[in-house]
Parts: sequence; C-alpha cells; structure tokens
Amino acid sequence: MRADRIVAVGPWSDLQPHITGPVDDLGEVVLMPGLINAHCHLDYTAMAGKIPQPRNFADWIKAIVAFKGQWTTAEFAESWKMGAQMLLRTGTTTVADVEAVPELLPAAWEQTPLRVISFRELIQLKDPAEESVKRATSEWASLSGSERRVGLSPHAPYTTTAELLSVAAHEARKRNWLLATHVSESEQEFEMFLYKHGPLYDWLKSQRNMSDCGQGSPIRHLEHADYLGENLLAVHVNYLWRDDAAVLGKYGVSVVHCPRSHDYFRHLIFPRRELMSAGVNVCLGTDSLASAARVRGKLPELSMFAEMRTLAARHADARPEELLAMATMNSAKALKRESELGVLRERARADIIAVPFAGAAEKAHEAVVNFDGPVRASMIDGAWAFREE
Ligand SMILES: [Zn+2]
Repeated sequence: MRADRIVAVGPWSDLQPHITGPVDDLGEVVLMPGLINAHCHLDYTAMAGKIPQPRNFADWIKAIVAFKGQWTTAEFAESWKMGAQMLLRTGTTTVADVEAVPELLPAAWEQTPLRVISFRELIQLKDPAEESVKRATSEWASLSGSERRVGLSPHAPYTTTAELLSVAAHEARKRNWLLATHVSESEQEFEMFLYKHGPLYDWLKSQRNMSDCGQGSPIRHLEHADYLGENLLAVHVNYLWRDDAAVLGKYGVSVVHCPRSHDYFRHLIFPRRELMSAGVNVCLGTDSLASAARVRGKLPELSMFAEMRTLAARHADARPEELLAMATMNSAKALKRESELGVLRERARADIIAVPFAGAAEKAHEAVVNFDGPVRASMIDGAWAFREE
C-alpha cells in the first residue's frame, strides 16, 4: 500500500522480500475488495421494524410518508450515522446513498470513513419543476467536499413529473453526475403507468397530473423524458414490459437489485436473467431497513452479505462468483469507478475487507456469500475503517 492505493497484489511468499514497512497479520481470512452498496437510505436506518409488512405498495408509501413527518432532523442524523456504522461492520466500503434530508450534509460525511456518494432526493408531484431542480442542484454542488460525492435522485416516476426528470437528467449530464431512481418497483406502479388504474393511481390522482399515464411502462416513461443513460442507476426494476430490458441495455443503464426489499414486498421473481441477457449491468444494494423484514424476531441490519444470501436463496442458478461480482465490480461499474473500486489490483483504491475463513481456496467464494457477522477488518483509502474487537 502507498497512501491510498494498492501497490502490489500476490501471495505473501512473493511479496514479503519487497516489504520494508510494518506488517499487519489479520490471521486466516479472505482478503477481498470492499463491498459496494449501490443503493441505500442511511437516514431511514432506525425505521427498522417500525413499519408493519403492508398489504400493498401504496399502503407502505403512505406509512413511510407519515412516519417521516414525525421525525426531527436530529433523529434522521442519528439514524444516518447508525446506518454508516452498520455498513462498515458488515464489509461495505462504498455506498450510493439517497438523501431525503439534505440538511444532514456535509456534516454527516465527517461522521464516517465510509465512502459515501450522496444522491439528493427530489420529490415533486406538480410542475413547474425547472426552477426547483436547478436550485436543488446548485445547492448540492456547493456543498463543501462535494466533488465526486454527489448525484441526484428523482425519487420515482410516480412521485415526479416528466419535466422534473428531463431537467434533472440535463443538470446531471452537464455536471457529470450520476442519477438514481426507483423504477418499476411494484405492480401498482406498473398498473398506474400502463393502464391508469390500481391503488397507486387512485391515491395519486387527486395530487398529481396523471396525463402521463396510460402510455406505456414506467421505463418507457423515463425514455420519453430523455432520462435514460449510462449515468443512471435504475433501482429495483422488478417488472418488465415487452422490450423494457432491451431499452435499458441500449442506453447502458445499470440496474440495482435489492433482494431483501424485494422479498419484503413479495414481488414476482426479479428478472435477473432477462436483464443480463439484454446486456444490462446488474448490481446489488441494501435499500433501507424500513423495507426489510425481521429475521427470527431480530431487527434486520444493513448488510450486503444478507443481500447476497437472500438473492442466492431465490435464484438457485446464481453462482457465488456472480453474486460477489454484483456486490463489487458491477456496483463499481454502475458508479463509473470500475478502474479503482471493487477490485484488488495495482493502483486501485486501497478499499479492502478481511472476511474470516480458514478453509480450502476453492470454497472461498461460497464462504464469503454465506458469511454473517462483522468482518475482521475493513480498510478504506489505505486507512483502517473498522477492526473487530
Ligand atoms: Zn430505495
């Protein structure tokens, strides 16, 4: 390691003669790139177990809106910090985080060594949107230390307008920022955009101009708003219409699958193969703990290991190597950082985790996917970010 970069990778016997500095022996472990969580809401961490599993998606949205209204900024700040600590303990070194409470930054960044890319959430049901999006964007750009750390997150097609999406896409391209949006998450969203009916349509029709519904899938709606591109992380994409997968592939969009959130809402099986066949980069995120079920009565924790395990349980054909790629290289690619994050190679960022394991090398991938508990150690930018006590 030199400063924040990896200098050499190899067996200890090859490297040892060239080492002059101090040696840190981590014991029997798998050394691997830090996990990259491509979608999270740190500020909702303390909502774990607070929202009962809903009858339908629209009911859950109503419940979380009501819940958010009761929290103070200090409570969101505490929740954000708790989430960052959980991710560090469970091997995440980079997170793409949606910020519903922009006032938490930049102070929240100072609370954690975690590499956080913060996407400012935009929710607005009515036009005009241009001025408000431009104001939010310039505020976000002026945060101290914002370089390479920020993006925009128009929440979802149903909580925004086509104008908002177009302006956000334009602003993001101009500044070389990423975009993250929940899309095609639920059957109700699908019904709203395709058929102008269903619980989400009924709930929103008095609050939002619904003339954009009845014209095609949520993904088509994004395409018409000139929103699709290589800088987009399309979160969830649980439901596909006809050539939706091909459309995403054509524009180079990355899809973020959140397996535990997917389970929580009891969606139909995630169209992983269809997306991959269309050449879509599929990666993994945790989403928030507001949509993760308890496990054997215990509150859930933010953990990319738990996400990999859940995905493995639903997709028997997904090999451990594929799951690990989704949680490292694929997420890095979605964030446009694949040359320096998600890999152990010379000159990559020194973001490394040590996962306790003493078995045969050919069992290492499987052991990592099934790992549960704190990692032994986690390094970010060449400095220890977490050590197991
Ligand atoms: Zn989310």
